[in-house]
Amino acid sequence: MDKYILTLDQGTTSSRAIIYDQESNIISVAQKEFAQIYPEQGWVEHDANEIWESQLEVAVEAIKSAGLTWENIEAIGITNQRETTVVWDKMSGEPVYNAIVWQCRRTSDYCDLLIDSGLSDSIKSKTGLIIDPYFSGTKLRWILENIEGARERAENGELIFGTIDTWLVWKLTAGKVHVTDYSNASRTMMFNIHELCWDDEILETLNVPKAMLPEVKPSSYIYGETDAELFGGPIKIAGIAGDQQAALFGQTCFKEGEVKSTYGTGLFMLQNTGASPIESKNGLLTTIAWGIPERYSAADGAINKPEQPKKERKLSNLFGLLGGDDEEPKDPIKVTYALEGSVFVCGAVIQWLRDELGLLEKASDSEAMANSVEDSNGVYVVPAFVGLGAPHWDSHARGTMFGLTRGANKNHIVRAGLESMAYQCNDLLEAMSSDLGKYPETLMVDGGASANNFLMQFQADILDTEVIRPESVETTSLGAAYLAGLAVGYWRDLSDVDDNWKEGARFKPDMNRGKRDGLLAGWRNAVSRTLGWDR
Ligand code: ADP
Repeated sequence: MDKYILTLDQGTTSSRAIIYDQESNIISVAQKEFAQIYPEQGWVEHDANEIWESQLEVAVEAIKSAGLTWENIEAIGITNQRETTVVWDKMSGEPVYNAIVWQCRRTSDYCDLLIDSGLSDSIKSKTGLIIDPYFSGTKLRWILENIEGARERAENGELIFGTIDTWLVWKLTAGKVHVTDYSNASRTMMFNIHELCWDDEILETLNVPKAMLPEVKPSSYIYGETDAELFGGPIKIAGIAGDQQAALFGQTCFKEGEVKSTYGTGLFMLQNTGASPIESKNGLLTTIAWGIPERYSAADGAINKPEQPKKERKLSNLFGLLGGDDEEPKDPIKVTYALEGSVFVCGAVIQWLRDELGLLEKASDSEAMANSVEDSNGVYVVPAFVGLGAPHWDSHARGTMFGLTRGANKNHIVRAGLESMAYQCNDLLEAMSSDLGKYPETLMVDGGASANNFLMQFQADILDTEVIRPESVETTSLGAAYLAGLAVGYWRDLSDVDDNWKEGARFKPDMNRGKRDGLLAGWRNAVSRTLGWDR
């Protein structure tokens, strides 16, 4: 019987399910959008039940539309919108409040309070994160403080917490398994990324009962099986990673120094820093990329390829699962860290030019428009619509357009919009390289806007670095598929996975230094004028 891996890709605006074969070809895809809830300005919520129902629906649909049954699915991998916070009753399974989404700013004041109490350094050194409403910890605290009876119920052990991966695994296993993985735990601002445990001091500060928190497991591991009723029979759940970490894995950036940039609504750059968590001095976050069994690491030459045939490996994994939690793990785990830079508005600038200014009909038109002019004619767009993220971290910056002259037309403006994505990426890579003391030789790219060849060439020119786009830019779901497939022996090890990576296009830098420096000076000038605008 043919076997496949099913990925559940639970994103911010939609739930998707994708089925992969062993060569990482996509066999089927199903997708469903769900409601965005904005109860107040700056607040963003999702209905956790709707997330679950949409995710289950697309999973069933993806299996069915490929003409498969549960028996064809070797394992499920999960990748998810990160940081989004759910609290639910562990008996009834009912969430006590909507999921509070990563974008939600409701805990800004409380975060300011934490910063004013001088906690920034200790939180950064323990969690790798800056104190910000973005992360789960203060969202969880908000629910305990603001939902009637929640604190008491949490202290009585009735309520549990999870990010979206945890919520999905709990639902998939009909409440039997309450886990997360290292990558998701590292985004909660409650997890000590060095000691690899929930941090008691931070939990005390946030007043969060530890018993609410999920057990933290490797990113590639058999966590449990789906309830047989959901798909007609049990399927192993065997991989979990937050979306950006999954993309890094899907790009097969397994070696230290390898870096990827994802051009979606926002832009997320992650660089594998190997076994060392590097603390940034330039506004980047330190995070866990993944924790996976050491024995996968044949690709980086550190560990020899295991010689076991696939079947035996499956058994040894199962044995690992059956080993009680108090026992030493059977399978030593290697944790890999990453430096991360997040830019809030990337592809969204094209959506804005399309939807608010009406300069183009569809995002992909931007490529021909940009190519129709020699340059941006001196126009710069700084898309600081919600302030600027890394490396500037200025929530008071606002969007602007500079350099307009009588000759500036819509093609110049659209081109400047695309160029702003490349400049922001350059800002991140410069910050990262300054933290690491070295510049990468190549940049791997993915995400919706990486399809734009003009943008990718301009990116290579501005970075003066080769930009490589894989054949499939669905790296997020692919990463989760790999993590799950590795745990069940569907793929042997990292080198086996690496063999599946196919280059789609390569963009070589082709701009002289004077021109590049001039363009970058203009960008820096533009950015400096947007800072602090909304004070
Ligand atoms: P997300 O996962 O964040 O929803 P995607 O990876 O699907 O985002 O990418 C969609 C974003 O990329 C949108 O903001 C869209 O404007 C932009 N985009 C899509 N195609 C292109 C293109 N060819 N050129 C420029 N931007 C694009």
